[in-house]
Formats: sequence, structure tokens, C-alpha cells
Amino acid sequence: LSPAAHTTGAAPVIRKKLMGYVGFANLPNQVHRKSVRKGFQFTAMVVGESGLGKSTLINTLFNTSLYPAKEPLPPAAERPKTVAIESIGADIEENGVRLHLTVVDTPGFGDFVNNDDSWKPIVENIESRFDSYLEQENRVNRMKVVDNRVHACLYFIQPTGHSLKQIDIEFMRRLHTKVNLIPVIAKADTMTDEEIAEFKERILSDIAHHNIHIFQAPTYDNEDEETIAEAEEIASKIPFAVVGSDKMVPTPDGRQVRGRAYPWGVVEVDNEDHCDFVKLRQMLVRTYMEELREYTNDVLYENWRTEKLLSMGVAQDSTVFKEINPAARMQEERVLHEAKLAKMEAEMKMVFQQKVQEKEAKLKQSEEELYARHKEMKDALDKQRADLEDKKRKVESGRPLTPEKSLPGRKKGFLRT
Ligand code: GDP
Repeated sequence: LSPAAHTTGAAPVIRKKLMGYVGFANLPNQVHRKSVRKGFQFTAMVVGESGLGKSTLINTLFNTSLYPAKEPLPPAAERPKTVAIESIGADIEENGVRLHLTVVDTPGFGDFVNNDDSWKPIVENIESRFDSYLEQENRVNRMKVVDNRVHACLYFIQPTGHSLKQIDIEFMRRLHTKVNLIPVIAKADTMTDEEIAEFKERILSDIAHHNIHIFQAPTYDNEDEETIAEAEEIASKIPFAVVGSDKMVPTPDGRQVRGRAYPWGVVEVDNEDHCDFVKLRQMLVRTYMEELREYTNDVLYENWRTEKLLSMGVAQDSTVFKEINPAARMQEERVLHEAKLAKMEAEMKMVFQQKVQEKEAKLKQSEEELYARHKEMKDALDKQRADLEDKKRKVESGRPLTPEKSLPGRKKGFLRT
């Protein structure tokens, strides 16, 4: 046994050669089959001023008309005064692989005279999605956990050619610890290549200056050169200068392409010489969708969860053992145990609060229903009483109750006179 195995209690690793085919080499295929059967969930958020081409880009990315054509923006005075959060979901399938895609739009962002707090409802929305996930994790039955967390946020930068605006910096500063930020320069066809290169440089230096963390394609030590080169190439394009179009246009050499036609030529969406759309799609869909989901779960959500539980007074676990001093070690274990208990208690408290809230809501609803029923009965009784009093008055005044009955054959109208 190695000394490490003694101290950690882990089983020693002995390398053995197999005598024949056992079958666990098939494990990746099993995982593959299972995940294909289950399907995938992915939630992308788009943020940026109206008219920057967010809907068009989503339609272009997923090659579907997820977003219908939008109405033009009403005059400033008639617009809502806060940022709204709207989700659109779609089940899409490609070669038998099902993806439940949710796109969260944030209409109103950056469209007001005062945009100081535009980031707030978006942070709240992202956190409430974390909350809902944590609540599901704490349930007794965790079989059907729905992951509504936002896995990537495409932030659309206006193609001004200057540098980032205050609203861009504020948004990214507030959001970068909660979501995978992917900045894109919108409508890149409105700028020349040189302008784009300079603009990108300024954006990146602003991002670095404000210590904003944007999502980077990860590379691992044991990865092949090709994968590493691919990741580096994608990284070199950030922030992606994109052009969106869901229309096919003819090129001068007779091809039909997705693009935007101008008097001077055609900007092709899928041509890497024309814009960074292809690289963005690679980052978001083709190569790193799973990494985006993983980073959301393992880092962003985990950090938020730890912070949340700590703020509720729960101490964090520690795996450091005090080998040298048994008393210190016991003390540490006691603290750990207490922390665990406190954590369990806090989680139970959360579940309990949730249950109480649900019960209260249910009670309130039954109360409202009871009240409505009571009112209905009271109205019916009042009406009955009024009818009876009316009849009583008629009887007392000596008039017949129903004219038809007292004078058969006569018409109603005659009796009234
Ligand atoms: P949203 O309000 O951000 O969702 O913007 P839309 O996707 O509705 O696009 C607003 C307008 O910009 C539409 O007329 C689009 O055709 C146009 N548009 C979208 N993407 C681009 C682009 O990459 N370049 C140019 N020049 N126009 C675009």
C-alpha cells in the first residue's frame, strides 16, 4: 500500500492487463444512447437594445423561425417602463437528437431614457432560476428536476466602433459571476474589417480593465492538438462580430446563401471571411454547449449556492484533516459535523418554508372560493326574498299573483292596465 492510501483511506490502484474483451469499453456508447434517449435542455438568454438583431440571430443560429417578425418599437412615451423577461421554448430535433431549447428575451433593456437599473430584473431572473433548482434539489423526490438555469447569455454590443458604453460595463459586471457571458458585436456588416478589429481590441481592454469574466472555451491537458487549436481559434474571435439573416439570397456566382444583399455585394452569414457567425455557433452549439451547461452547474450555480447557504448561516464543509494534532482533528470533525447539521437544518427549513407558502396559497384560494360561493348563495337568497316580498305585496293589495293563471286566455298586456 502506498502511504497516500493509508492517510486517505482510498483503495490502492493496481494496473492489470485484461485477458480478453470484458465490455466496459462500451460505456461511452451506453452514456451516449442514454442521453440521446433523454434529450437535452438548453437555455440561452439574449440581452441588448431593441433592433440589434437578437431575434434574427437566434433564428439564424438554430435555423428555425423561433421568433416571429417583431413590430417596430413604439414611441418612447408609450413603452413599458421596466425590462420584461420573456421565454420562448421549442423542441428541435437533428439526426434523432432532441433538444429542448429555451430562449429568454429581455425586451426593454437599454431602451429607456434612464437605464441605470436595467440589469436588475435580469439578475433577479437568473437568481430565481437558481432558487428553483435548489428547491428541486432539496425535495424528497428528485427524479424530475427541471433545469431552467440560464446556460449562456449572448450580450449584444451596438456596433458604434467606439468602446463599451456604461450600460454594457454595468451589465457585464453584475452578471459575469452568475451566467456564461458571450459578448457579440451586433450587425457587424455595418462596419469595415479594420473598424471591427479596432472595436474588438477596445472592448477586450474594457473587459479586462473591469475584471469581467467572459466564457472561454476550456482546454484540458490530455486533449489533442486539433481540439486545442480549435478552442484557441474560437477564443481569438471573441467578441464575435456577427451578422444574422434568416433569408436566402443569390450571390453573383449563382449560389443561394443565408445572407444580406447590398448594392455592393452579399454578406454571407456562414462565410468565415465575412463574419464570426460560424465561430459563435461552434461555441454555443456545436462544440461547447455541454461545457456551457457544465460550467453553469459546477461553477456558477455552485458558487451561488454556497454563498446563499453561507448567508443563511451555514458553515462550509472542509476536507482538510489535521493529521498532526488529534485534538485539533477531533475539533475539526466536530465543527464539520455541526456544519453539516446546520446545512441540513437550513435546507430543511427552506423546504418547510416552501411547503408553508404552498399551503398558505392553497388556503387562500379555498377561502376565496368559499367567499365566492357564499356570495352567490346570498345573492340567490336576496333575490328569492325580493320575489317573495313582491308576491306578498301583490297578495296584500288584492292583485292576482300571475295574470295568466287567474284569467286564462287573456293576454299579458291587458292585465297590467
Ligand atoms: P431585436 O429587436 O434585437 O430582436 O432585432 P430584430 O432581430 O428584430 O432585428 C431588427 C432589424 O435589424 C430587422 O430589420 C432585421 O432584419 C435587422 N437585422 C438583424 N440582424 C442584422 C444584421 O446582422 N445586420 C443588419 N444590417 N441588419 C440586421
